[in-house]
Amino acid sequence: MRPGGRIFFDCTQASYPLQKIFLAVRRMQSNIGTVRNRPEAFLSRGSSHKEWQQQMLPENSILAKEYIMKTDFKIGDFELTWLNGGTFELDGGAMFGVVPKVLWQKKYQSDDSNYIPMNAWPILVKANGMLVLIETGLGNKLTDKQKMIFRVKDEWQVPPELAGLGLACEDIDIVIQTHFDFDHAGGLSMVDGNGKLGLTFPRAKIIIQRKEWDDVLNPNKRTINTFWPVNYAVVKDSKNLELIEGTAEVVKGITVSHTGGHNRGHQIVMIESGGQTALHLADLLPTHAHFNPLWVMAYDNYPLDAIEQKELWEAKGIQQHSWFTFYHDPFVLACRFDEKGNITDKWV
Ligand SMILES: [Zn+2]
Repeated sequence: MRPGGRIFFDCTQASYPLQKIFLAVRRMQSNIGTVRNRPEAFLSRGSSHKEWQQQMLPENSILAKEYIMKTDFKIGDFELTWLNGGTFELDGGAMFGVVPKVLWQKKYQSDDSNYIPMNAWPILVKANGMLVLIETGLGNKLTDKQKMIFRVKDEWQVPPELAGLGLACEDIDIVIQTHFDFDHAGGLSMVDGNGKLGLTFPRAKIIIQRKEWDDVLNPNKRTINTFWPVNYAVVKDSKNLELIEGTAEVVKGITVSHTGGHNRGHQIVMIESGGQTALHLADLLPTHAHFNPLWVMAYDNYPLDAIEQKELWEAKGIQQHSWFTFYHDPFVLACRFDEKGNITDKWV
């Protein structure tokens, strides 16, 4: 039998003072019986790991979500809110590269077929009246076959979740894409009720590194499998693209920097306000369990660059007591590390 929800609280091996709150919220949700919380809503998706899904990922990801929606995470004067851009699963071996499973499974749970749960949760940053979205989620253009391959559990909910915050897609001022892989840029464009493809955030400037965009338009044999025409077609024809080379402050307090590593044009985001900082290392640090600079993904196209850049930015972040934010981690949305990689504070 697979471990139940409790493992969620243990996976970072850190103390868990909020456990009682989560359990209370979970009980409340199951009483309410919302569509998103009903076990059968997940069971009907036909996975062979029903118990695990039921007990571990969906409820817990929703729990984390509900909690975040109630109390936003703050960096100085900036408010950060994670939006449900979809959840899915990938092969754990691919996510941890050359690291043996006996090591990584101590930090991150897998199911019987070695798959691990993943979020694709964009972060909305309210920064001095500007609305900045970091990443855009899986989007609503995946085919049934793609949903099956990537084991999509929660569908992309970014527009309704913005509406829940009293916002429209048109209100977003800036979208930062750390890179253009399908699981990060799928929500940049969407199909509407009439089946028409258009920009999801029609007013927003789209911030991408020039190197990444060059590669999107001229993919190599690996990246052609993740730079999908359906995701870049309307972006290419829009005037919203703003291509960056290196480092740029996109609004006061939010800076992007080119790193390469995962993709040639991969960039990261530094958020600074009121003397506090958060670093969004994107796919250089996809989950809390990837802290060791040598624990890079088999998906990384330039692994030695990923190792070098991760080492550099982690050291910088730890030195300035920065929070690290995660896009893919269903267990930890943000945390602080000490020099040895132990989590000292976390936001789940
Ligand atoms: Zn990713």
